[in-house]
Amino acid sequence: MKENTLITPLSTVHGIGPVFAERLERLGLKTVKDLLYYFPFRYQDFSNIKSIAGLSSNEVATVHGVIEKISISKTFYKKLLVITARVADESGSIEVVWFNQRHLLTQLKEGISINIAGIVKMQGKKLQFQSPEFEIISRDSYVPRHTGKLVPIYSETKGITSKGIRFVMEKVLPLASSLPEFLPQEILNKNSFPTLSDALEHIHRPASLTEAEEAQKRFAFQDLFLLQLIKTKEKYHLAQKPAHALPYTPEQIKKYFSYLPFECTPGQKKALYDILEDISKSHATHRLLQGDVGSGKTVVAAMAALVVASHQKQAVFMAPTEVLAQQHYHTFTSFFEEFSHGVALLTSNHTTVFFGKELERDISKKELLTHIASGKIKIVIGTHSVIQKNVAFDDVGLLVIDEQHRFGVHQRAALLSRTQTHHPHLLSMSATPIPRTLSLTLLGDLELSIINELPKNRKPIDTRIVPALHRQQAYAFIHQQAKTGRQVYVVCPRIASLDPEQKLTPRQLLQLDVKNVEEEYKKLSKTVFKDLRVGMLHGQMKSDEKQKMMSGFKNGTIDVLVSTSVIEVGVDVPNATIMMIEGSEYFGLSQLYQFRGRVGRGEHQSYCFLFTESRSKITMERLKALIKAKNGFELAEMDLKFRGPGQFLGTEQTGIPDLAMKAMQNPHMVKNVYESVQSLLKQDPELKKYPYLAEYLKLFEQKIHLE
Ligand code: ADP
Ligand code: MG
Repeated sequence: MKENTLITPLSTVHGIGPVFAERLERLGLKTVKDLLYYFPFRYQDFSNIKSIAGLSSNEVATVHGVIEKISISKTFYKKLLVITARVADESGSIEVVWFNQRHLLTQLKEGISINIAGIVKMQGKKLQFQSPEFEIISRDSYVPRHTGKLVPIYSETKGITSKGIRFVMEKVLPLASSLPEFLPQEILNKNSFPTLSDALEHIHRPASLTEAEEAQKRFAFQDLFLLQLIKTKEKYHLAQKPAHALPYTPEQIKKYFSYLPFECTPGQKKALYDILEDISKSHATHRLLQGDVGSGKTVVAAMAALVVASHQKQAVFMAPTEVLAQQHYHTFTSFFEEFSHGVALLTSNHTTVFFGKELERDISKKELLTHIASGKIKIVIGTHSVIQKNVAFDDVGLLVIDEQHRFGVHQRAALLSRTQTHHPHLLSMSATPIPRTLSLTLLGDLELSIINELPKNRKPIDTRIVPALHRQQAYAFIHQQAKTGRQVYVVCPRIASLDPEQKLTPRQLLQLDVKNVEEEYKKLSKTVFKDLRVGMLHGQMKSDEKQKMMSGFKNGTIDVLVSTSVIEVGVDVPNATIMMIEGSEYFGLSQLYQFRGRVGRGEHQSYCFLFTESRSKITMERLKALIKAKNGFELAEMDLKFRGPGQFLGTEQTGIPDLAMKAMQNPHMVKNVYESVQSLLKQDPELKKYPYLAEYLKLFEQKIHLE
């Protein structure tokens, strides 16, 4: 019964009717647990209980009295309905007014006993409560919940007030007392945390602010603890799974290096050896390779894949888009053109095989799948297509997932290993750095390699903010650059213009002027750059059209490419030297950083123009951060500071509770959690002694989406 209490639907709780249950559901609150964990975002201190005669102006207080007289009137100008009550205690009386709340008349009657709580204002020469909280005291034994104490304030929604939530909370809080503690006793002792049931009581009905804060601390700890436990257990379980040990020899690696037309950076080499160490282990490993756009992650992964193939095992590369999959395939086959053990490109539109430079051909999907299943193909590069059910592998030794934040990494790996005795080693790659402050919590102690430098030949990109006033000047400069043979990206926040005839949400109304691909394409191709070849690219175009555009840009038959953020990840065109971003304030800093990484890849000086019509100071500061930051990590830290972890990660997307979001930035808390998780898993990796913790962890996991 006890654990079940948590998942009891609110509609079945005594005292919560179906109407209320439905409104709660709109807040996302379905079970007892959901409601118990719906924490107040602040507390209103109404604990200052006064006699009416003792009140003074601008004081927040609660008084207890009787309604002597009640009347309604309308204000002359605005036709507001005013309810005026005279409330008296033994010491005196005071006027109380409410505006436009006719429904209160059903409750407020002469002669009833009432608490009034709020700020006292001087109105003319008399004191007055204006639209205060009130609470009818129906009998002497009644314990007030909205007045006379610290009152929790919850965020409200249509149909539910803070008062309403306090009301239903009263119904579920008694259930909390039967909830078993799930945190290990040592942790409670060490940190002097209240027990779960006390903490729930204290956060919703605190006797003092200190009590509420202590409860908050426990819950923040608890969430970080569960988060990190999930991550650390994942790693632990992966380490239990058998994998192929795929060792390398130094000669072999030297040979691979010699195929490259450039010298790898120290960061690339370090990352490569980290990965090679991983795959030489006989248990499954998972590493995250983080490196700025253009830092050369692909070639590092490609060399690891060669080692895998040299052991007659398969390596699978999964990229988030068709364009990227093709690019990886080309990188691979152009650097390692001697490689004859079979490389395939597999996307929904392309099936190509390569057995060395002379032996490259398009192939039917059916034939390709048989070659993959038989192991004749050692390296498979593709999109999601590579993990569809109909793709069977011979034996996968390494799975590389590019831009890992777009995938559920472990689920994907599980898909691949469904028919294998050995689990593949996992390598995820990402150009979106996770700030150090958040990394321990979000990644646990996942193995991490960082490429923190760009190849030597890269010149810093000249980045400028372009206000409306300087638009023409910027156009002229860009035009002149394009005339000398360089290429230009133009990124817009939207695909099409909004139709002002249609009913728009307030948010859309604000975005009516936001630049869009279709209009900019028209304008640039017909007027501003009419003597240049202008192309357009966005996510709603057909896949082969996109393909044509992208390859046109790649081989130089298009000078200016107007697009949405689809070009965000990974596209590599060294001759493109100008990144022009419209409405740059609509993009996150990390995203802007990614855009900028599209240029500065060749020998020519590159430029990034951040167009903005906004004059807000914060916008300017954010954009300036992009100019200042030395690398993606520094920028991610700044972005985090500007937006806070909630916005930075998107609370909605991750499901991480607010308290935990805040706590993630507290290094002491994070360290404390880390040590607690490590010591717990050391003594009891399966949580056998902590069944309630295991239970909680499961519930928690269902709510969180980290990958
Ligand atoms: P990302 O890390 O963004 O995925 P890529 O792997 O796409 O970067 O590499 C970007 C470009 O840099 C590619 O054209 C690649 O061939 C080139 N490159 C990679 N490493 C080096 C290096 N050490 N020196 C010069 N160019 C490199
Ligand atoms: Mg890449």
